[in-house]
Amino acid sequence: MNTPAILSGKPVRKDFLPFARPFIGEEEKKEVLDTLNTDWLTIGPKTKRFEDLFCKYIGSKFAIATTTCTAALHCSLIVLGINDNDDVITTPLTYVSTVNVILYQNARPILVDIQKDTHNIDPVKIEEKISKDYSIDTKTNKLKNKHTGRTLKAIIPVHIAGHPCDMDEILQIAKKYNLFVIEDSAHAVGAEYKKQKIGTISDTSCFSFYPIKNMTAAQGGMLTTNDKSLEEKLRPLIVNGMSAGAWQRYSKDAKTMRWDVDEIGYNYCMTDIQASIGIPQLAKLDKFIETRELYSSIYNKEFLDCKEIIIPVKRGDIRHARHLYPIVLDIDRLKVDRNSFMDALKAENIGSGIHFRGIQYLSYYKNRLGFKPEDFPIASYISERTLSLPLYPKMVENDVYDVVSAVKKLIKYYLK
Ligand SMILES: *Cc1c(COP(=O)(O)O)cnc(C)c1O
Repeated sequence: MNTPAILSGKPVRKDFLPFARPFIGEEEKKEVLDTLNTDWLTIGPKTKRFEDLFCKYIGSKFAIATTTCTAALHCSLIVLGINDNDDVITTPLTYVSTVNVILYQNARPILVDIQKDTHNIDPVKIEEKISKDYSIDTKTNKLKNKHTGRTLKAIIPVHIAGHPCDMDEILQIAKKYNLFVIEDSAHAVGAEYKKQKIGTISDTSCFSFYPIKNMTAAQGGMLTTNDKSLEEKLRPLIVNGMSAGAWQRYSKDAKTMRWDVDEIGYNYCMTDIQASIGIPQLAKLDKFIETRELYSSIYNKEFLDCKEIIIPVKRGDIRHARHLYPIVLDIDRLKVDRNSFMDALKAENIGSGIHFRGIQYLSYYKNRLGFKPEDFPIASYISERTLSLPLYPKMVENDVYDVVSAVKKLIKYYLK
């Protein structure tokens, strides 16, 4: 039998294939250089252009560029008035910033378990949670927790791996109980739900341009909304609360040189250097997603008859953004657990990632909020078995087949 490299066999690949890599071309370099030759390095004309192009691509009324997706999520909670005595529902299977922004506002994250097929938050369980723990206070018309008296204000669905959540069901619940919906769309730029782009359907939607997301701006985020009153609150919020940012005050056609502060804000604005990377990346986004789709379909075909691997589903009338290719290992059929499998894969010179280790396993949240793995049986099940294989447009088809060979080699060797 073919010995795994971790047990001194020959690795499938000679050179290491990283789990993810950004794809930067000449256009990005040219645009950044152009910006460096102007006097506007931080928020300015390029950021404005990036926002306009993003708006046009998504089809939302407004787009506000931020330092990160985390900042965009935080700003969403602020402008929707979520704070001290509020509860916010989200998923345990997410990146920590989804939960952190709730805690920044001194609100309480309420985690609701996921669907076994999509790994997205389960609307049926949201409804169950609400009917079990909350009731409408007829005097204030607010949804109050029966035990703590806290108010449920919002739901943050996360489109895991780029597969849109069941938005019709989520929006219906939100409407019924008068809740805001803030989408964590960090994985979902370019995704569509029933022919509508993600970024057009909820109160706000937040995208990430972290280097290994579907498109990058080195770092950076974007908040989209169709609500003008939210946009008006967001503009000062990302420049420390100032009523006019530097660009509005110092440029030649500035209408005012004076400013005031009505509400406290944050320094959350994007820089023109970031926007210079984002603009050409956005132009390439659909091509990037096509390549991700092609590589996903190769994986799907190759793993179809492999009983030990559950491949990602695509269900409903959606466009999957194919940000990640997370498989679920049936570890009951194997002699190794997920972590050892990843170590063995690394020895074959193939990188991989975990999306995600559930929030219920991480010390801070576990200790401070008392989450337990048994409270979220499906998220805990997935959290212990999932691993994401390399999937990015900078890979070539041979890389994809190397990953397939390495995974199949290890499955065969470690079969019980
Ligand atoms: C990457 C990511 C974020 C945070 O994005 P940043 O731009 O790095 O702040 C938020 N949520 C999810 C699900 C993510 O994967």
